[in-house]
Amino acid sequence: MKIKREVIKALLEIAKNYHPSEFIALLGGKRDEISEIIFLPFISGNLSALINLDVLPIGISVLGTVHSHPSPSCEPSEEDLELFSRFGKYHIIVCYPYRENCWKCYDRKGAEVKPEVV
Ligand SMILES: [Zn+2]
Repeated sequence: MKIKREVIKALLEIAKNYHPSEFIALLGGKRDEISEIIFLPFISGNLSALINLDVLPIGISVLGTVHSHPSPSCEPSEEDLELFSRFGKYHIIVCYPYRENCWKCYDRKGAEVKPEVV
């Protein structure tokens, strides 16, 4: 799978702005390439709320989720793994201090995947 470099950059920037709070958004794109960040502003800090996706814009294909960890760990929590298994194909976690390499991507089983940055 692939992810656009500008998406990674934007995710790190947004996470930095939200720090020390978490931010959550959806990842959109086509086929196996993540090219869009989809904000659902009504979701505040509750990852499981993402599962209620009645309000998704039509025509956007959602590939997965992204959220930030205000701690230096990009490892998924148990709650994260639970969400991963229920919704979406790819899940990105960005973590403090939000430098270029402070992110990881997981599949729905919680196994790390290494996307090609394009
Ligand atoms: Zn998490």
